[in-house]
Amino acid sequence: MIPVKGYAAQTNKSDLAPWNFDRREVGPHDVQFDILFCGVCHSDLHQIKDDWFPGIFPMVPGHEIVGRVIKVGDHVKNFKVGDLAGTGCMVDSCGHCDNCKHDLEQYCLEGCTYTYNGMERDGSSPTYGGYSNTIVVKEEFVLHISDKLDLAATAPLLCAGITTYSPLRHWKVGKGHKLAVLGLGGLGHMGVKFGVAFGAEVTVLSTSPKKEADAKKLGAHNFVVTTDPEQIKAAQGTFDFILDTVSAEHDFNMYLSLLKTDGTMMCVGAPSKPAEISAFSLLAGRKSVAGSGIGGIKETQEMLDFCAENNIVSDIEMIDIKDISRAYERMEKGDVRYRFVIDMATL
Ligand code: NAP
Ligand code: ZN
Repeated sequence: MIPVKGYAAQTNKSDLAPWNFDRREVGPHDVQFDILFCGVCHSDLHQIKDDWFPGIFPMVPGHEIVGRVIKVGDHVKNFKVGDLAGTGCMVDSCGHCDNCKHDLEQYCLEGCTYTYNGMERDGSSPTYGGYSNTIVVKEEFVLHISDKLDLAATAPLLCAGITTYSPLRHWKVGKGHKLAVLGLGGLGHMGVKFGVAFGAEVTVLSTSPKKEADAKKLGAHNFVVTTDPEQIKAAQGTFDFILDTVSAEHDFNMYLSLLKTDGTMMCVGAPSKPAEISAFSLLAGRKSVAGSGIGGIKETQEMLDFCAENNIVSDIEMIDIKDISRAYERMEKGDVRYRFVIDMATL
């Protein structure tokens, strides 16, 4: 086994603290890379608090992982020692179901293996995430990272990036569309960047008036403060799409009223409580509510290559790992600008 240093929550009530554990030896199809940076996703916070379902503890969060390859198995073809590498939210899937065969491993019909708070395919070995110094991952789930981009700012692409890129591509959002991005946090700010890059007219819907200048710097064309009834009234029926990235309970009916006829609300945010949606919010205007989960490995590589070509990275605030609890507190208050990234050298 490989000894690993990390940060873990021991229970759903405890703060993250240093914890040593082991990872499997590098198998013939595995890549081992040392973790240089790891992004902090709101999903990390949901999961250490058991917001969604009872978690597997001790829990080492982190699924926006980038670093440098230090060892490869004998059958590994596409990585060599010294390469940059990344891993997102998944480290395995069944590989043979219809979804896996169609590059939709995130929707694996047998359940994909999440990077942490999951079980390996053996059903009994817990997975541990990127708040740690090194990781061993099956080659097919390791992504190539360009050396053209700032490495720390690339880490959030592995979750916040693909989670917003994938629905915008799936619904073919682009030129001629009015796209609203709801919530300007880690996912939201990437949604703005991709929406602009794809040619849509982008409006940020935010509860934080202070984020307006940043939204414009990110490329957004318009900004609506959602706590101001006048601004909400003026935005009624104006958007083709809403990309909903909100992490907490919110009023779907109010936001649905902002869609045009035939508009679609693409939900990627994952609040712990179910939403109440009135049938009238949908039938008046033939509107759709849809969801999207991360993205497959092929699409994640496509997104990373698109970012390298178009010079797109995340706007980050780098933190030492000892300051992770403070970062969570700020994230909970909507005070992220716009993704915390842990400098793993501080572990
Ligand atoms: P984040 O950085 O904390 O951003 C969430 C933003 O939502 C906040 O910055 C805030 O923006 C807004 N917000 C928060 N509470 C709100 C409320 N009560 N009403 C309205 N707006 C509110 O979080 P994130 O990392 O982007 O993640 C967002 C959500 O997506 C989380 O639930 C996460 O678990 C989920 N997620 C889903 C997937 C997937 O595969 N679908 C992948 C990753 C993450 P403003 O200040 O602008 O209002
Ligand atoms: Zn995430």
